[in-house]
Parts: sequence; structure tokens; C-alpha cells
Amino acid sequence: MKKPLISVVVPMYNESEVAQSCYQRLKEVMTAHEMEYEHELIFVNDGSVDDTLLIIKALAEKDERLRVINFARNFGHQIAVTAGIHRAHGNAVAVIDADLQDPPELIPDMINEWKQGYHVIYGQREKREGETWFKQTTAKAFYRILNRMTEVVIPMDTGDFRLMDRKVVDVFKSMPEQSRFIRGMVSWIGFKQKALPYERKERFAGESKYPLGKMLKLAADGILAFSGKPVEWIRNSGFIITGIGKIMFFIWIVAFITGHQTKLFYTGWQSVLGILMGIQLLAIGVLGEYLLRVYDEVRNRPLYVIEEEISAKSKRTGPRDWEKETFGKLKLK
Ligand code: UDP
Ligand code: MG
Repeated sequence: MKKPLISVVVPMYNESEVAQSCYQRLKEVMTAHEMEYEHELIFVNDGSVDDTLLIIKALAEKDERLRVINFARNFGHQIAVTAGIHRAHGNAVAVIDADLQDPPELIPDMINEWKQGYHVIYGQREKREGETWFKQTTAKAFYRILNRMTEVVIPMDTGDFRLMDRKVVDVFKSMPEQSRFIRGMVSWIGFKQKALPYERKERFAGESKYPLGKMLKLAADGILAFSGKPVEWIRNSGFIITGIGKIMFFIWIVAFITGHQTKLFYTGWQSVLGILMGIQLLAIGVLGEYLLRVYDEVRNRPLYVIEEEISAKSKRTGPRDWEKETFGKLKLK
């Protein structure tokens, strides 16, 4: 029987400090099981401005099982993962971050579960080492809020570290949305899914490429793409505020007729109006967020732009001159 092919997708943005170690760890893990399955590695360079591309290109020149997809600019983590999955040929596709926070050694365990008949095996963080108190608490809170708001059950404390069967990958490929919250999309797809608990380690080297702004954008994508609850809240608060307004109007009429108008009716008005206007703007803002995402979808632009795809098999003859010069400077083991 033919050995199954396992693809491993790794998104990379300014990961020159970890790229090579990441390659080596993955290679060790995957070659240790060479008797059971073949592997291919897909490194997506998401518009890095450091030496990441040069390092992984040099690796790809030597290893025909490594393919490099080079984006024309930075498109973001979720899009980079998407491009890798789109281009994977494997019977199962694994996704892992470049920084070795998620142990590559877990991939063979995922593959075992896959062989048992599970279609999605995702890593579930039991502990997080070396991440700030702020990141841990916000991440925890986010997953809990998200699950209250969405119809799809998105497992707690999971990232995109997972293995997916070809069936799942094919459905994923048919999902064209622009705002992508991959862990939610995969939950939505269904099939037999299983969690594998693990300890999330500290970043091997370098800094997090997820500053607060990017984290908030991802959180908003997750909520807005999987829940209509914010619109329901706006509608409900509309009912409540209108109700209160009617009661106040009634009290005012009664007070006017009976001549009991007190100062209360004249003071404090401005601040009430101010609050109400704030609520209105907030509501418009939330609706705007949905609308912007609709706009993104209808424009229907390609999700990403690939500058080139590099593999040892690709026809390109050797490095270009400027690359030769830089390759020379890099000490590759
Ligand atoms: N990443 C990416 N594009 C980006 C930001 C991040 O491809 O715009 C990659 C990054 O190189 C890493 C993974 O996404 O492989 C996760 O990023 P990071 O480890 O910085 O996130 P954190 O673990 O801090 O949440
Ligand atoms: Mg990380």
C-alpha cells in the first residue's frame, strides 16, 4: 500500500531567528516516521522584511520536500495559513507556528489519531509558559465570550495547531471568505474532531508577531464572522431605551398637567442625551463593522498574492546574483 502523504504548513513573518531550527525540528520528527508516511513541508513567507525568505529558500534548494511560497507583501497569519493549506497535496495537512511554541513532536500523535478515524485533531493548550498575564487572561476571556455568542462550538484554548484530513481540507478550500478565523471555520466544517492537550511553550526566539492590534482584529473577525448577537443586542437595547423614553414622556405629561414639574426634568438632560448619542454611535459602529466585512466580501479580491513559489523541483536555475551574495553570508548548517 502507498504510504500516506502528510503536509506541514508553517506561516512565517520575520522569523529569521527561528526558521532554521523550526525546519530542523520538523524534519527530525517527520523523518523519524519515514516508514509510515511521506511528508512535505510548506513554508509560507508572509512578507517578512528580515532574512526569513533567504534562509528558507536556501533550505528549499537542498530539500525537495520543502516548498516555499513567497507572498508579495504581508497578508497576515490567517491568510498565510490559508495559502499553505490551499497548496498542500497531503492526505492530511498539519498547521504549526514557526516559533516552536507548539511542539512538532505532537504531530505524530495527531497522525495516530487520524489513522484511528478522526478528521480533525487540534492541540488544546493546557498551560501557557512564558506568555504575559495579560495575554493569558485576555485569550481565556475571549474564548469564553466567543462561545457564548456563537452558534458553532469553537473549542476553548485552541490555536491553529492542528491536523486535518483531506476531506476537511477540501471543504476548507471551498470556503472563500475574506475575514478568516480558521479555527472557527474548521469547527463549522464538522466531521469527527478531537482535542489533544499539550503545554504551550515559550517562543523559541524572537518576539511575538501578534501585537494587541492584530489580536483585536482576529477576535473581531471571530465574533463577527460567527455571531449575529451584537446586532440582536443593538435591537434589544433599542426596545429597552424606547420603552424607558415612553415612560419618561408619560411622567412628564402627568407632571405638566398636575403642575408638578420639578427641576429634575430640566437638569441632567444633557448628560442623558450625551449617553444616548454615544450608544447610537456605538451601534452604528458595530453595524459598520459588519458592513465593512460585507464590502470586503463583495469586492471579491484574491485572498493573497504570491510572488513566487520555490522548490528544488521548480525550473528556476540556481540563485540569482543578489541572492548568491547573501546566501554566502548566511551560515547554513
Ligand atoms: N505570522 C504570520 N504573519 C503575520 C503574523 C504572524 O505569518 O502577520 C506567523 C508567525 O511567523 C508565526 C505565527 O504566525 O509563525 C504565529 O505568530 P506568533 O508566534 O508571533 O503569535 P503568538 O504565538 O505570539 O500569538
Ligand atoms: Mg507564537
